[in-house]
Amino acid sequence: MGTSGTGAPGTADAAAPHDARTKNGTDNDLRPAHFHGTRQLLVPELLLLPDGPVRGQAVLVDGGKFRAIGPAEQLIAAHRDLQPVRLDGHLLMPGFVDAHHHLTQSFGKAQSFGQPSEIFKTVWEPLEHALDEESAYLSAKLAALEALRGGFTTVADAGTRAPVDVGAVAKGTEEAGIRCVLSKIVSTGTGGPAHLARWEGHPLIHPSLAIAVPEDAPGEVIKKTADMCAEAGAVLQIHVNEHLASVERSLKSVGRRPLEHLHHVGALGPHTLGAHATLLTPSEMRLLADSGAAISYNPVASAWKGNGVAHATMLAAMGVRFGMGTDGTRGDGFRLVDAGETAQRLAYGMASGDSVCGAGRTWLTHATASSADALGLGKVTGEIAAGKAADFLVVNLDVPELTPSYDLRWELVRLANRDQIAAVVVDGTLRLWHGWPPDWDGHALVARAAQLGPEVVRRAKLQRVEPV
Ligand SMILES: [Zn+2]
Repeated sequence: MGTSGTGAPGTADAAAPHDARTKNGTDNDLRPAHFHGTRQLLVPELLLLPDGPVRGQAVLVDGGKFRAIGPAEQLIAAHRDLQPVRLDGHLLMPGFVDAHHHLTQSFGKAQSFGQPSEIFKTVWEPLEHALDEESAYLSAKLAALEALRGGFTTVADAGTRAPVDVGAVAKGTEEAGIRCVLSKIVSTGTGGPAHLARWEGHPLIHPSLAIAVPEDAPGEVIKKTADMCAEAGAVLQIHVNEHLASVERSLKSVGRRPLEHLHHVGALGPHTLGAHATLLTPSEMRLLADSGAAISYNPVASAWKGNGVAHATMLAAMGVRFGMGTDGTRGDGFRLVDAGETAQRLAYGMASGDSVCGAGRTWLTHATASSADALGLGKVTGEIAAGKAADFLVVNLDVPELTPSYDLRWELVRLANRDQIAAVVVDGTLRLWHGWPPDWDGHALVARAAQLGPEVVRRAKLQRVEPV
């Protein structure tokens, strides 16, 4: 068990007890200590680059970034001061990027099962209103730990409704060690500039602004917020066209569908990130493509509570920018990409005889590099490239599920599991080793959440439809 507190990841004693987990014949003598220090020369069996997996390549990590990628022999010869870390039987791949999450909803996740659409009114708003500083922090840290275990190295929080300072959410994600696009809800038209300035230069927190849904704010506030984000290089997060009820409310109140309304008020641009977009007309898809706005495709949210599935293969063909998000459903990157492909196949591929539905590469790319791009972090993370943050996973490939291998990217989408993730590294620092933090007590966090979570749910007095 790791020690509690914020001990430096470099402390070998904190990591030592986990070494026993590596003695399974597949990890050889790979140890957490191999990922310590500011400079590492990693030589994986396979490296997942933007164009696909390659052999015989190494990566140099220095100061939290990938500094060089190239033929292993060349890099080893050029850096004789470094002991190469051989990751035989392992893939080094970019961490998943969750383009849409609600970190302060983790205590009520299973409360949403079986509920009719627009759960935010009956479950999420009361739940978040029942949080205080301590429980909001704990909820965010629990969600961050779950996300890291599922292979996410970045999560985007869409803005909490909890009556607390968003610093509580930042504290949770920062302590867990995940990169976070942290939103503040600014539907009243105030607080935006202060929030955008507050996290300047922070290595793991990237500020963003949010308006939960277009109907929450006047058009001029939405437009002003979008402009503010564009100027600051941040994104405006907003839920659009998710449920039929909200599309129809928008038609009745402003005479336009939510996405058309965003366009009409001048808020649709490259710094706008719409969540869900499950109910789009062809002309709304055209508006997205022409404006450069991005959306988050959230297939598990569609399965659990949706009125539709975003037509992601169509959006890809039209050149619409999109990432992939969990919406706080389950923090599991491999199951997210699997759901992403399956949902397209069932909702659209069968009807058109499309048995490929983007193949594996589409979903891996959209859950990593394209998600980072949708979040305005395209220059920061999402792929293994020189100059980008060392946010990556070390995945065990020596498993029956991936043997023999013919198309690794498709196999990762359909067959891989989070229990194959040996290491999760964010900003060059080892955050998880075989599913648990090497330098703080993840089990104690889970125990505390098991105690406090139900208390919050009781206080929230949720109005649930009891499934039979
Ligand atoms: Zn959402």
